[in-house]
Formats: sequence, structure tokens, C-alpha cells
Amino acid sequence: MTSQKPRSPSTPHRPSQGNRDFRNRIKRGGKQSGEQKNTPRSTPQPLAGNAAAQPCIILKAEREKSLLRRHPWVFSGAVERVDGAPHSGDTLPVRDAAGNFLAWAAYNPDSQITARVWSWDESESIDAAFFCRRIDYALAARRELKLADKSSGARLIHAESDGLPGLVVDQYGDTLVMQVGSAGAEHWRDTIADILQEQCKPACIYERSDSDSRGLEGLEPRNGVLRGALPESVEVVEHGLRFRVDVAAGQKTGFYLDQRDNRALTETLAAGRNVLNCFCYTGGFSLYALRGGAKSVLSIDASGDALRIAEQNLATNNLDATRAEWQEADVFQALRKLRDQGRTFDFIILDPPKFAPTAAFAEKAARGYKDINLLAFKLLRPGGLLATYSCSGGISEDLFQKIIAGAALDAGVDAQIIHHLHASADHPVSLSFPEGAYLKGLVLRVGG
Ligand code: SAH
Repeated sequence: MTSQKPRSPSTPHRPSQGNRDFRNRIKRGGKQSGEQKNTPRSTPQPLAGNAAAQPCIILKAEREKSLLRRHPWVFSGAVERVDGAPHSGDTLPVRDAAGNFLAWAAYNPDSQITARVWSWDESESIDAAFFCRRIDYALAARRELKLADKSSGARLIHAESDGLPGLVVDQYGDTLVMQVGSAGAEHWRDTIADILQEQCKPACIYERSDSDSRGLEGLEPRNGVLRGALPESVEVVEHGLRFRVDVAAGQKTGFYLDQRDNRALTETLAAGRNVLNCFCYTGGFSLYALRGGAKSVLSIDASGDALRIAEQNLATNNLDATRAEWQEADVFQALRKLRDQGRTFDFIILDPPKFAPTAAFAEKAARGYKDINLLAFKLLRPGGLLATYSCSGGISEDLFQKIIAGAALDAGVDAQIIHHLHASADHPVSLSFPEGAYLKGLVLRVGG
């Protein structure tokens, strides 16, 4: 295996296509805000240090605190200087202003996040054996979850939360999909693929390194087979339901494994209800609702490709197509149309794409969340249920609940929270990396 090579955040998230749709909407509305540009060149550069010295990142005085709390990111504003002449992806020691060792981290001069920590242990070498240990550890944690009874899919590696910043690996049967989102993980990409091949023996490792966030890291998009050959059709079987996964062109790595438990909950809530599933993608929540005995399910998504797979999934699972209706539309507009038509529902699911990748987008995102949730509250019959989600790393659980409370207030309804929801257990959250808790959801019951 190769020696040292490395590369950015990888707050795992809802991708891109939806996100872009949302941004376009906002732009069309003429409300452009200070969005972070996808131009790494504008990254503030720390002072170049002593080029002849050993490569090293030296922090400004008093800027070591977050690292001492084991948060794995070094922001460019905290860096006093970079010694030596390191390349993007190289592993460097990070030192405080007095020269004390803090961590080994992957360097990226093109990112706002100048370095991402691999290890806090000065004696640890960042080499193939290191990646073997980290990957072993992550795989063992998944085995302990005994997911195989529930699902042929699992998130095997959850980036920062598994001690591997920028690296996401999702499994769909014997296909692995790898998403490389940092200069460090990019540097070690082949080593990581070798280890995954050896440990998991998949038929294929497919690389989907084409998320928007790669641009913020100064990395080119990449999409293709890394090892083996891509099977003609990839599917995931979840709680007995079969879903086709388009690993090459679908969103994210092809499927939203994070919602597995929440989809199963939907099945238990759907009996006898008229359901509206907004942002349905390939029909995840819709199929569970149908199997759970929903009277009808109207599913809306902006992506025609996703809806075509959703209809195939419905047929593959022999579910009653007469209870299902699919609509290709912008949810923001569709909800208004349903309101104007006087339609009502007993159960509404809102699982939008990521509106706020970072806290800087929170205000604009909050307007988007409030808008769709307010409309949903208005479409619900008394006693109806709203399952509402946010996968925005930039919106905390607390803020999300406040936004929903504001929406209910403006809609003139009383509502109770009956479930607080998160991503499934194969998406662990490191205690020192709260950004890993990106997915939050509430199930609410509106008053009669
Ligand atoms: N609930 C799904 C995942 C939803 S991902 C599941 O369990 O699998 C978010 C979805 O929102 C994507 O399918 C994307 O195509 C869709 N989307 C993004 N912006 C949209 C918009 N403005 N209107 C409708 N759908 C949109």
C-alpha cells in the first residue's frame, strides 16, 4: 500500500441537487444573501513561515482551545504560519504558539479549514496501518449494530465522527460507494480503497466525489469505478422493502441511509391516513406509508429521475399503485397549490434537502423551513401528523424546534411533539464534533 498521501468537511449531508434547487429559488426571488462562494482562492492565507524548516502548522496564541477539546478542524483564521513547503493533503503536526504538539492533521491551503485532524497522539504514524486501524474500528462498530437483520445497506464510515475527516463510505449490498471530501482523504484515497477492498471484499467500490463541498476544498469532482465493476443494478433491501440505488447519478451516494429508522416509524403511523410526502426522492417514506396501510400517498419531488425510480420501487415491492400518486414539482409551489385547492391530509412528511450547509446560511434556511412547515400545518386536518426534518448542519436541533414552533403559531395551530428523531445509529456523532448531528426531525400532532 502507498505511503503518506491525504484532503475536506464532510459534514455528511443531503446533497446537492436539492440544495441547488433551493438556492436558485431564493435567487429568483431576488433575495441573494452573503452565500459563501465556491472559490477556494478567496481563502485567507496564513503567513508563510520558514520554508526551510520542518513542515508544521503553528497556531496563533490562544487559538488552540478547540483542538484541546478535540474538535478536528483548524480554521485558517487560527493559523499564525505554515512552516516548510507542504502540499495539499500532506500530514503535518499542528503546534500551539509555544511550539507544543497538538495533533497530526491533513493540510489544505485551499480551504477555510486549513487542517483536519487525523490523530491527537504524537507517537502515532499516519500511514496505511493507521487507516487500517481506523477502518477496522468503524466496521466493528457497524457489526455490533447487527444491521444485517434490518438492512443490506449501512453507512460504514461517517467521516469526522469515525475519526476519518472527509471520508464517507456507504454500503449497498456488495457495492461500496466512497465519497472523498477533504484533501487528506484525497491523498490517501488509493490506500483507503485497498483497505476497504481487503476488509469488505465488495464486488465494486464506486467513487462519488462530486458533492458541492468538494469545490470549497479546492478539489475537482470525480465520479467513477475505483475497484471492481459496477453491477448492472444496485439495490438496498431495508426492512424487507427493495429500493433501487443509482450510485452513479443518484443524489449523495445514491440513497438516504440516514432516514432508515425514521422511515420504519412512518410505517407505524400511516394506517388509514391520507399522506403527503414532500421531497420524496425515490419513494422511501412513501413505500413505508403504503405498506403501513395509508389510505393514499401523494409524493412530490423536483427530480423526474428520482420519481421514475420511485415508481419502479413501488412495482418491485408489489405495493398497491392505486393508492399512490407521484408529482414532479417544486414543493414550495406545490404546497401553495394544494392549499388553494382546499386539499387536506392526515399525515405530512417534509424531508427537504440541506438548506444550510453551515451556520452562515442559517437565516435564509430558517425562512425556507418556516415557509414549508407553515404551509404543511395549514394542510393538516385536526389530529393530523407532521413529520418534519432538517439535514442542515447549520441549523441546530434547538433552532429547528423554534422555527417549527413559529410556523405552528403563524398557521394558528396547536401542536405537540410526539417524537424527536435523528439519523440511524450507523451515523454516529463524535462528542467532540457536534456538526456530525446534522439530521434532526420532529413528529408533531396537531390539535383538534
Ligand atoms: N426522503 C427521501 C430523501 C429526500 S432528499 C428519502 O427518504 O429517501 C431531498 C429531495 O428533495 C431530493 O430528492 C431532491 O430532488 C428534492 N428537492 C430538492 N429541492 C426541491 C424542491 N424545491 N421541490 C421539490 N423537491 C425538491
